[in-house]
Amino acid sequence: MAGLLEVKELCVSYGAIRALDSVSLSIPAGEIVSVIGANGAGKSTLMSAVMGQVPYQSGEIEFEGKPLPRRSFQVVKSGISLSPEGRRIFAPLTVLENLQIGAFPRSGDSEKAVKEDMDWVFSLFPRLEERIGQYAGTLSGGEQQMLAVARALMSRPKLLLLDEPSLGLAPVIIKDIFRELRRINEKGLTILLVEQNAKQALLLSQHAFVLQTGRIVKQGVSRELLSDPEIAAAYLGGK
Ligand code: ATP
Repeated sequence: MAGLLEVKELCVSYGAIRALDSVSLSIPAGEIVSVIGANGAGKSTLMSAVMGQVPYQSGEIEFEGKPLPRRSFQVVKSGISLSPEGRRIFAPLTVLENLQIGAFPRSGDSEKAVKEDMDWVFSLFPRLEERIGQYAGTLSGGEQQMLAVARALMSRPKLLLLDEPSLGLAPVIIKDIFRELRRINEKGLTILLVEQNAKQALLLSQHAFVLQTGRIVKQGVSRELLSDPEIAAAYLGGK
């Protein structure tokens, strides 16, 4: 069966640099799928291409069996949202205002529906509700990451893209955030996670792809990849 998201032979170049070289992957509805890879492997480029933020030279992206629009606003309207690498929250705005901006693409929805989702994200991340009026730029790194995920959820996506949610965070905070990602997935949301933290990503996801200098070099069931000696040597610190 075709996945919720199908990426087929995607090629992205920045001038002479080929960042993605014929990348194909399928994201089944309801799953958490991870893409692991080192610095510069092309993980963020993959996310940006799906979101319509960088153009692709060849290949296809389909969502729910239809070609995905290439403009970001339309991609979000189709049901995909991104929590970007480095969080990119709006620092001079409050937590509440950041969340309201996340809900902007659903301008046709009732205030009640938006409020219900805001209550839901506050139930996932109670810390955000406690800091609802605080400027986002004054939040801790972990809180900013929670806000980036919560803001992405406010567009009520069917597919959530997460770019390096563990970056720069203490292990205890990573554990908290990954536990909430599992809860979000259990609510039926499909997740595509890209991570340098291969161990956490493989523990959380059902299937995974390994990206190396723009190419998928391995894919499979995450649990099996965790015990693959090549993956262990290259991405899990040899453990
Ligand atoms: P990291 O984990 O370090 O963020 P990544 O796997 O997300 O890495 P990308 O950021 O997608 O990798 O980069 C893939 C390649 O494309 C790298 O060689 C990078 O230098 C190059 N690249 C990315 N963005 C641009 C750009 N705007 N212009 C030129 N080259 C770029």
